[in-house]
Amino acid sequence: MKLITKIVEGARDILPSDSYQWQFIEDIMRKQALSYGFREIRTPVFEHTELFERGVGDTTDVVQKEMYTFMTKGNKSITLKPEGTAGAARAVLENGVYNEGYPIKAYYITPCYRYERAQKGRQREFHQFGMEVYGAGSYFADAEVICAAKSIFDRLGIRHIHLELNSIGCKKCRPDYHKALKEYFEGNKEELCDTCRSRLDKNPMRILDCKSPVCSEIAKNAPVVLDYLCDECKEHFEGVKKCLNAANVPFSVNPRIVRGLDYYTRTVFEFITDGIGTQGTVCGGGRYDGLIEELGGQPTPSLGFGMGMERLLMVLENENIELPKPPVCDLYVIGLGEQAKIKAFNIVEGVRSSSLIAEGDIVGRNLKPQMKYADKIRAKFTMVIGDSELENGKAKLRNMQTKEEKEISLDDNFFTEFFAVYVASSQQDLLNMMDKM
Ligand code: ATP
Ligand code: MG
Repeated sequence: MKLITKIVEGARDILPSDSYQWQFIEDIMRKQALSYGFREIRTPVFEHTELFERGVGDTTDVVQKEMYTFMTKGNKSITLKPEGTAGAARAVLENGVYNEGYPIKAYYITPCYRYERAQKGRQREFHQFGMEVYGAGSYFADAEVICAAKSIFDRLGIRHIHLELNSIGCKKCRPDYHKALKEYFEGNKEELCDTCRSRLDKNPMRILDCKSPVCSEIAKNAPVVLDYLCDECKEHFEGVKKCLNAANVPFSVNPRIVRGLDYYTRTVFEFITDGIGTQGTVCGGGRYDGLIEELGGQPTPSLGFGMGMERLLMVLENENIELPKPPVCDLYVIGLGEQAKIKAFNIVEGVRSSSLIAEGDIVGRNLKPQMKYADKIRAKFTMVIGDSELENGKAKLRNMQTKEEKEISLDDNFFTEFFAVYVASSQQDLLNMMDKM
C-alpha cells in the first residue's frame, strides 16, 4: 500500500486502541479541577502572534525559535498556541470575566504547537492540561494550585515524582539579582553558548535554565536568587512552604528552577521525574503577577501551571500503572435471515437507549464469524435470533463468561427480562470480586 502522505513530523495519532488512556486521565483532571473550584475555559488554537510575543515574552525560546507562525490571506500574523496561559488571560480580559469577581479559576486541556526537535518526550504537537487563577495574591493560592497538580499525580497512583520549588522575586528585587548574575556570567562570557551570550543582557536568569553542559556547569556557582529576595517576596515564599508542609506535600527548594517563560514572578515550581529520560519535567508553573498588565489589563496577581499530557502518560507507563480499560459490550445480538436481522437491529437500538453497550452485525458476516467477533470484543451476553426464535417469540440469552443460557421473550417483555438477567450477573460479578479481595 502506498500512502499519499504521512503524518507531519513531531505529531502523533491517538488511536482507538489507546484513546481510553487519554480519556481516563482527562477525566481525573476534570474531576480534580472541579473539586478545587475550577471551571473549564476553551480558547482558540490560534491567536494573534503579538499575544504570545507579549504574553510569553520575546526573550524566550518559545517565542524566539519555536512558534508556528503564518500570515493569513488577510495579511495578519497568526500563531498556533505554544502554551495555554496567554490565550486564557486574553479571553478573561477580553470578555470581562473579572466582572464575576475574584478569584477566577479556570482550567484547560489543549493541544499546543512548538517547532522544536522532535525526540522522546518532545513533540511539535503535544497536549497540556493547565490551571489558571486570576486575582489571587495570597500564598494560599500558590499552595492551592501546587496541591491541585499533585492531586492529579496522586489520583493516578504516580509515586516517583518530586516537587521542586523556588522564588524568583518580583519587579522590586529582581533587578539586583539580574545585576549580580550579569556580573558573574560576564566573567565566563566566552565559554557560554551563543544563546546564553545573547541572554546575558536581556534576561540572564534564563542562563540558569540552559541545557548545554558547559553553561549548566558554569551556572552551578552562580549567585542564588533566594539571597536577593525582598522582604515581601521572602514572606510570600515562607508562606507557600508553610502551607505545603501543612498539607504534607513534600518538596525541595531548588534555586535553579527559573521556568522558561518570561512572565513568572515569585513562586515557580516543577514536578520532575527521573524515570522518563532527559525530558523529565511533567508539570511546570508558578506566579505571573505581571502578565495581565502586560496584556493591557489592570494589575492582577495571577498564577497557574501547565502539565504535559504525553509526559504524564510516559510516567504512567514507566511506573507500570495500568489504566482501567473502557467497559465492554453488554450484549451482542445476531440475526439470521432478513426478518431476524431487523429484529436484532431493533433490540440492539433499544438496549443502547438505556445506556448499555450493544452491538450487532454491520459487516454482513455469517453466524460463526459473528460469534468470533463477539468473543473478540468480549461481549458479556450474546443472543442468536433465527426463524424459529422469531416464530416462538423467544431466544436464548447466553452469558459468555459462565456459558449459562436463559430463554427470554422477544416481545415487549424483552427489556425487563434482559435487565433482570443482566443485573443478577453484575451482582454475581461483584460478589466474586469481593471474594477475591
Ligand atoms: P522543557 O524545558 O522540557 O522544554 P518548557 O519549560 O518549555 O519545558 P513549559 O512551557 O513550562 O515547558 O510547558 C509545560 C509542560 O508542557 C512541560 O513541563 C512539559 O511537560 C510539556 N511540554 C513542553 N514542551 C513540550 C513538547 N515539545 N512536547 C511534549 N511536552 C512538552
Ligand atoms: Mg521548551
